[in-house]
Amino acid sequence: MSIEKFSVEKVLSVQRWTSNLFSFTMTRPAHFKFTAGQFARIGLMVGDELVIRAYSVVSSPYDETLEFFSIVVPDGAFTSNLQHLKVGDELYLEKISYGYLTLARYQQPLPQDLWLLATGTGLAPFLSMLQDFETWKKYQKITLVYSVRTESELAYIERIQEIAELFGEGHTGFKFVPIITRDPNAALRDRLPVLIANGQLEKAVGLSFNPDSSHVMLCGNPQMVDDTKEALKQRGLTMNRRGEGNIAVENYW
Ligand code: NAP
Repeated sequence: MSIEKFSVEKVLSVQRWTSNLFSFTMTRPAHFKFTAGQFARIGLMVGDELVIRAYSVVSSPYDETLEFFSIVVPDGAFTSNLQHLKVGDELYLEKISYGYLTLARYQQPLPQDLWLLATGTGLAPFLSMLQDFETWKKYQKITLVYSVRTESELAYIERIQEIAELFGEGHTGFKFVPIITRDPNAALRDRLPVLIANGQLEKAVGLSFNPDSSHVMLCGNPQMVDDTKEALKQRGLTMNRRGEGNIAVENYW
């Protein structure tokens, strides 16, 4: 990978959620354009090697800085170094953005009900979409489902509320649904495909999946993405191809 494809950016803030989850912001060069839901490729010098990983952007396309949400992968060449990030550190940012998990990909059915289903750090692209007024204008119902193992892993809870109040002001169709899979006291604690198959998710939201009106986006654990896709297909939903269909996905690692 040639270094000319990257710009050098500075870390502006670091927020630690748990011992293995953190977020950081960095400077955004004027040339770096993206659509909500897309990812950036970030490089880190490890010794004299540039190691690169893909990260969905958390911040909105209108923000002056870039925000990312990361997990520390045990013994991972990238994140085990990245976790020690400090304000003022330098990171490499590839000049172009990537990815097709964007709302613009949907042509049919027309926008009506939006389901954003995430596990762990797969929440990132959905936070970007929700910080775009266009999303709130387009959809009558917006449901954000966020599955984590323990309550302490529910990062961004307050931000989600702030985003809904600010960007969704006057919107009456937003629901945030946390799933805490390893908490016996959680209201919802089964995995997403189970909650879809047994109807519990729809019951909790008060809305049904519908091939004629649902746009469903999945991001996170690759096995969750596969299993949830199958559960949704069982309900008559189809993969979105060339603009048509209900389901769009991104594996987060
Ligand atoms: P995770 O294992 O993905 O769990 C997060 C949530 O997803 C939990 O609620 C979990 O439920 C659920 N889940 C897991 N498998 C599922 C499936 N097949 N269907 C439906 N839901 C499912 O946890 P994580 O903390 O986000 O990530 C765990 C590990 O993944 C990390 O330690 C790391 O090794 C790797 N990872 C790597 C990267 C990377 O960039 N390389 C990024 C993220 C994560 P349960 O409690 O039932 O498992």
